[in-house]
Amino acid sequence: MKYVFGPVPSRRLGQSLGIDPLPLKTCNWNCVYCQLGRSLPLTNQRREYFPRKEIITEVEQALKAHAPGDIDWVTFVGSGETTLHASLGWLIRQVKELTHLPVAVITNGSLLYLPEIRRELSAADAVLPSLDAGNARLYRKINRPHPEMSFKRLTEGLAAFRNEYQGKLWVEVMLVRGLNDTEEALHEIAAALDPIRPDEVHILQPDRPPVEPWVQPPDEEGLLRARAILGEVARLIHPACGSFDLSGGESLLEAVIGIITRHPMREDELIETLKHYSPADVLATLTELEKSGKAQVVERLGTRFWSASPAHYPE
Ligand code: SF4
Repeated sequence: MKYVFGPVPSRRLGQSLGIDPLPLKTCNWNCVYCQLGRSLPLTNQRREYFPRKEIITEVEQALKAHAPGDIDWVTFVGSGETTLHASLGWLIRQVKELTHLPVAVITNGSLLYLPEIRRELSAADAVLPSLDAGNARLYRKINRPHPEMSFKRLTEGLAAFRNEYQGKLWVEVMLVRGLNDTEEALHEIAAALDPIRPDEVHILQPDRPPVEPWVQPPDEEGLLRARAILGEVARLIHPACGSFDLSGGESLLEAVIGIITRHPMREDELIETLKHYSPADVLATLTELEKSGKAQVVERLGTRFWSASPAHYPE
């Protein structure tokens, strides 16, 4: 499948069937911790990157192929910023007609200052935007946004969305050691969250290959500090464990590429995922992944990760 992947285990959404409506890596931010490589170039253009009817046809097929109970959420999670697909609102509404499963949208939230984006996302059951900084300087340093983006637009957009949105608003804060895990930075994030009134704040740490090699997760103290400062609705989200569904590809190789393009995997996680296949198939798949040029191995956080080869990770 080209646009639909998984289900994959998600930290918040159980077994999540992913819908990716974007080419790698179509984004208006270039976060230092991004697991998908650098945004080259940054784009803030909304358009129909892939035909919406093709996407919905695949979603329909994927939903039919899975037994009830296999999927907990259907999640729009792009190889970039989901709201850049010009038909996102239409896609959400179509999925809601196809299934009673809840629909989530993972977004950086940067375009929520636009009323039409807020209207489009209103059909989702949960929206998970990002807020990694409590001031403009740190926002530029961590998220490295497109010049049309600003911290004011981000925070005002999030607050306006909260005022209109009836679903669950779960704000993600990705902590990077030495940048936004200090007491001062966390108090500023808490102040910025005040008018947004999220239902939950999810404290995350980089556990996939961060694009910038110097990015480090916070230490235990930093995590506890964040939990204490970000208030009662804040909770620490630990890396998910669970099974990756590889049935969606035309071949095992294609299925693995479909997942690692959106979700780079630790080498041990990939081998674990392949454990139901014969050792010969596993060896052939890993060898072919390396030889085909469709995948690359990236070393980050002292670990080997498998990722899609077009993703750009500086040495
Ligand atoms: S983490 Fe998300 S918002 Fe940030 S650069 Fe990557 S895709 Fe874009």
